[in-house]
Amino acid sequence: MTPSETEALGLDAADPGHRGLFDVPPAQGGDYPEVAYFAGNSLGLRPKATRTELLEDLDSWAALGVEGHLDAARPWLPYHELLTGPAARLVGALPSETVVMNTLTVNLHLLMVSFYRPTGSRHRIVIEDAAFPSDSYAVRSQVEFHGYDAEDAVIRLRPRPGENSLRTADVVEQLGNDVALVLLGGVNYLTGELMDIPTITKAGHAAGAVVGWDLAHAAGNVPLALHDWDVDFAAWCSYKYLNSGPGAIAGAFVHERHLGADLPRFEGWWSTDAKTRFEMTPESRPPATAEAWQVSNPPIFSMSPVRTSLEIFDKIGIEVLRERSVRLTAYLSELLAGFEVITPADPARRGAQLSLRVRGGAGALSRRLRFEYGVIADSREPDILRLAPVPLYSTYHDCWRAGAALAEVLA
Ligand SMILES: *Cc1c(COP(=O)(O)O)cnc(C)c1O
Repeated sequence: MTPSETEALGLDAADPGHRGLFDVPPAQGGDYPEVAYFAGNSLGLRPKATRTELLEDLDSWAALGVEGHLDAARPWLPYHELLTGPAARLVGALPSETVVMNTLTVNLHLLMVSFYRPTGSRHRIVIEDAAFPSDSYAVRSQVEFHGYDAEDAVIRLRPRPGENSLRTADVVEQLGNDVALVLLGGVNYLTGELMDIPTITKAGHAAGAVVGWDLAHAAGNVPLALHDWDVDFAAWCSYKYLNSGPGAIAGAFVHERHLGADLPRFEGWWSTDAKTRFEMTPESRPPATAEAWQVSNPPIFSMSPVRTSLEIFDKIGIEVLRERSVRLTAYLSELLAGFEVITPADPARRGAQLSLRVRGGAGALSRRLRFEYGVIADSREPDILRLAPVPLYSTYHDCWRAGAALAEVLA
């Protein structure tokens, strides 16, 4: 064992995290039985409790049939309410502002129905040039739905030449009186940059725009205070840092000051007040909560893993996780000092992810890491390798393995 490996193991003993709560896949190469998993920003690992609790919910169906709506140990009719409190605490929202439903891009569309209301010259949407493609397609289709030309109506923010991340002041400067909606990623999926959400939200409002945030890479990664930051709306998925499984049910936030307001919304039977839902009236009576944005009855067996996972976050606390995340990411960053890291060096400007620019193909590199070293990292063609040390289950020894493997492969 090298002194640096011994040091990593010492750091793990002093600052152990919660790896034991998770199933860590076996390695397909390298010297260790388990993978060093750095793809939690793409698909988080499965909590051990997920299997047990999902089977409990599944067995209620076998035991009770339709009566499970009311009589299951966790009744299906109000099941989504079990997720609201923990999700609200995670993103710094009131329970009335929060709902877990659908998937992320669907939620963005449902929220844009209410919050992208272009009028004449104020019709543009601001996104990052490095936006996740789904967001890009979503906003383009929204502006086209309203009869505008996407090439003109979508403003894509680019870093300055030679820089990799956006400067807050440059973002603010782009928010003119033609902007109807600002819709940025809280943490950028590619670069790992954490945006200054309160400052940009305030500037967007000052410019007369609505400000929404895509928190796919921020929820479960960094502490958020959506209510206090006066964010208009937000949405996030649950399969990345929230460890709820592939295609897991997503979250949505609508600020209190919009609840009960006269906004356009697309409705279904889950948009109406639960107390009078079964009166089966032709017109809905939406509650003055984010639940008014629900449409369909929720998929219980898809919500179950989200509930289990949110409970873990609720117990440990995102503030505590963030502290460990800053330590773990700083350690990985030291080990990667010889490489071109495009993620901001300032811990306040990044979450748990470090992105490297590599030569010779990121896909081939990530395959070598996986099959020769048991290190799971995600590649984005042509040249970006993303590594996310996740504070719940990643270890200092995982970081050491990634650093050692990259040093060997890229030597
Ligand atoms: C992961 C991710 C998505 C994925 O959207 P789904 O609708 O859940 O498939 C969308 N936007 C961003 C920014 C993401 O990181």
